[in-house]
Amino acid sequence: MSETFELTVDLIRRRSVTPEDAGCMELIAAQLEPYGFRSERLDFGDTRNLWLRRGTASPLLVFLGHTDVVPPGPLSDWNSPPFEPTLRDGLLYGRGAADMKSGVAAMATALKRFAAAFPHHQGSAALLLTSDEEGTAINGVAKVIEVFESRGDRIDWCVIGEPSSAERLGDVIRVGRRGSLCGALRVFGVQGHVAYPNQADNPIHRFAPALKELITEVWDEGNEFFPPTSFQVSNIQAGTGAENVIPGQLEALFNFRFSTTVTADDIKRRVHAILDRHGLRYELAWRLSGAPFLTTGNELIEACQSALETVIGARAKTDTGGGTSDGRFVAPTGAQVVEIGPLNGTIHKANECVSAKDIDSLSAVYERILINLLVS
Ligand SMILES: [Zn+2]
Repeated sequence: MSETFELTVDLIRRRSVTPEDAGCMELIAAQLEPYGFRSERLDFGDTRNLWLRRGTASPLLVFLGHTDVVPPGPLSDWNSPPFEPTLRDGLLYGRGAADMKSGVAAMATALKRFAAAFPHHQGSAALLLTSDEEGTAINGVAKVIEVFESRGDRIDWCVIGEPSSAERLGDVIRVGRRGSLCGALRVFGVQGHVAYPNQADNPIHRFAPALKELITEVWDEGNEFFPPTSFQVSNIQAGTGAENVIPGQLEALFNFRFSTTVTADDIKRRVHAILDRHGLRYELAWRLSGAPFLTTGNELIEACQSALETVIGARAKTDTGGGTSDGRFVAPTGAQVVEIGPLNGTIHKANECVSAKDIDSLSAVYERILINLLVS
């Protein structure tokens, strides 16, 4: 079995349920330190973060990953114990096999081989690991980025080994993420008897035409990388439970998933304009749960596409789907960010697995990205 496979197995054996690291970082540091990587612990609270950097010059290419995993759930759902990595029919089973211990192992061995083959590479190559990506992520990469900003460490390119692939390894890479904006709306009316509507003011009737307008509004057309911005109502409630009472208030929760064509402020302004035009009396509380980002510079995306072409023989579809990742903390620094990793069909499920063959191909892709960017 290959070195990357063995390392993946060693990592899966460590029960690193968020925010535990369970010794994964010691293992990785011991692998890379002999190859000229300087290691630094940046732990905050209950979260471990490890920074391994080779070289001091720019540009700085960072591989980013997490050693924590989500809980395995009921053990009876697993065909083999989640923390006893098991190879069956070419697939390696275990919690974190795809999300993302194989990615971490592949990044580590790629960096090792690269350092051995190109000891005088340009710029710097680095690996950043956190033990809290799956949890609150408060003391993970967000805090590390604050440290980097305070001391002027600038990341030029960031490759995240999260499972981005859909049907076969490397068919999809993520080059950004949509923004998420939540609204909590309260529309005021006047409660009264349904038989005396002229003595009441029904907030449901008042809100209905405004809601129709919010639903049919074209917020934008999207762009090359993002689908059109979407508006969805997730909750709506009013009423006292009685069938003869006009309610005094209506509450609605809604969410926008938005592209980089609009800003959160644009959306807010337009929502208020619609509500005001319908003469509503209301309160509206906004919460921005994440700004959108998009890697626009071409160097990193091209380095990844070319690496996929060399190793796998095909380029990837680029998209901005999926949930959140630590890329949201890195992208605002101006770094180009791409996610490229194994298949995601079994992540967070029982019997999570990764193809043993893909583990080696992934490591070869990462090594090729290093060569494309740091060797002329
Ligand atoms: Zn992950």
